[in-house]
Amino acid sequence: MDLWTHHRWRFPLPPQHKFPIDKYGLLAERVVADGIATARELHEAEPAEWSELAAVHDTGLLSRIREGRLSVREQRGLGLPWSAALVERGRRSVGGTTAAARHAPGHGVGMNLGGGTHHAGRDFARGYCLFNDVAVALAALRRDGLAERALIVDCDVHQGDGTADVFAADARTFTLSLHGARNYPFTRIASDLDVDIASGTGDGRYLGALREALEFALERSRPDFAFFLAGADPWAGDRLGRLALSKRGLRARDALALDMLAAAGAAVCVVLAGGYAEDVRDTVEINAATAAVVEERTQRTARRVYA
Ligand SMILES: [Zn+2]
Repeated sequence: MDLWTHHRWRFPLPPQHKFPIDKYGLLAERVVADGIATARELHEAEPAEWSELAAVHDTGLLSRIREGRLSVREQRGLGLPWSAALVERGRRSVGGTTAAARHAPGHGVGMNLGGGTHHAGRDFARGYCLFNDVAVALAALRRDGLAERALIVDCDVHQGDGTADVFAADARTFTLSLHGARNYPFTRIASDLDVDIASGTGDGRYLGALREALEFALERSRPDFAFFLAGADPWAGDRLGRLALSKRGLRARDALALDMLAAAGAAVCVVLAGGYAEDVRDTVEINAATAAVVEERTQRTARRVYA
């Protein structure tokens, strides 16, 4: 299946930093090794244009990012040291989500091996998130008539405050976030539906809560397009997440979300969001399993279309 990646674009990080910069390259290798995509189906994402970013973000913020003029306070909130390489990579991450999203209406589903930077809001960049890729991609899709009513399903363990901020006044976009009740961000911006999950919650109760939340959100939003943030950080072994899902539970989560969205008639764009396992290979394994679940659905859609 076609996948988008920007793993060749790296940026300098201090030693011991928690941002898993190595996961992107390892994941690109892994999906090819697993036969989920051929090397030719792995597309290098183009950088999003500044004008596309300006459809969502405050122009003052964009200038400060572009010129390296973030305040000390903004720098601390972002948690990543500014560099020209960081900005280039951030733009390519958005470009990958936009390309994968454009692919989805014709194929049922599209996936970016990155993105899901949901802590970036209209005029703030924080929590490792420079730009809100999902919001920028949705704006581009709407401009091209490829999406109208949208649902954003955020299953990263951290609440999607930036996405909630961007879409607060947008009646055509429903924001759903399922997250650890005691995880970052500690000051929230309300989504259309926020589901706080208690620390230590495992597969069964999590999947029950997801099903119920999706039923409600689909009923309210009637989407033709959906984004799914398949965060790897609800995993029990995650260093930042406080939930306790197994790898099998995460696969079940991905299948449940994709099947309910497809049954509701929505094209879906899948993005990775966070994942902070002690051993990056665990995060890569979870992300590759998500890609495999997506690939199974791509084949199903293709059979339906060409049968
Ligand atoms: Zn996260």
